[in-house]
Amino acid sequence: MKNPVRALLPALLFLCVFGASASAGATPLLEAPDRVARGDAFLVLASSDRPTQRFTFSWGGKDYAADAYQDGGRWQAVMLLGMPLEEKQGRRTLIVRDGGESCAAEIAVFDRKRPVQKLSVDKKYVSPPPEVMARIREDRRKTARALAVYSSRRRWTAPFVRPVEGGVSSLYGLRRVFNGQPRGFHKGLDLRSPAGTPIRACADGVVTLADNLYFSGNAVYLDHGLGVATAYLHMSKILVRPGDSVQRGQVIGLVGATGRVTGPHLHLTLFAQGQSVDILPLLEKVEKR
Ligand SMILES: [Zn+2]
Repeated sequence: MKNPVRALLPALLFLCVFGASASAGATPLLEAPDRVARGDAFLVLASSDRPTQRFTFSWGGKDYAADAYQDGGRWQAVMLLGMPLEEKQGRRTLIVRDGGESCAAEIAVFDRKRPVQKLSVDKKYVSPPPEVMARIREDRRKTARALAVYSSRRRWTAPFVRPVEGGVSSLYGLRRVFNGQPRGFHKGLDLRSPAGTPIRACADGVVTLADNLYFSGNAVYLDHGLGVATAYLHMSKILVRPGDSVQRGQVIGLVGATGRVTGPHLHLTLFAQGQSVDILPLLEKVEKR
């Protein structure tokens, strides 16, 4: 599989040689950025010149295995990791293991400016009536189950397919005020698009959720391997079923205005290890017309 790291981030800043093996002649390496903004995804690359089946990445207190592949005579694994939007100030440690060897990279956290956005929506979406609370809790369980799916095989490549052609109507990470009430961050990217427009899968994957949810309306979640998932919300129509394998660019539904919306659009979320992150820097660029 093509190595997406080189194409996307030509200048990875942090370089770390795995512990003892450097002196033994082998040169396992970890390449990672040395600082990442809250809410951003970032690529890291582990490589070794000795045969390795998989690398394990420890990030945010959990371990994630990645199958190694051969490229240019080296065994490698690439991971897309996320710096959570609510991460505390300071540094986070990324550890990679290749059999017995390990290597740690310190990654500094910084902030991007996140503007405030004021919106007006039907009041049932700001203060949901008591009779829908059980449904909202069940929706959360469904999405948590979908995001808990993990495979050590990478099915995604970067950049991701842009699912609809329209421009951005709302950025990821905006602080949102609904009908005058603060409601946290906007954890997705809104793409302008007329109702009925076909929505394409960002990458190869498996459908982990295809259902109607209270806030999200008709929603599809795809697992792309290595903890990378995408979600497509507010569809007028869902065209896939849970368990389906989908290909990069395959139509999975139609744009709509279901759930908590102000009009038809696609809300697109990228998840890295269960955390939402900004997908915009990883999307294919569209030519201005
Ligand atoms: Zn949105």
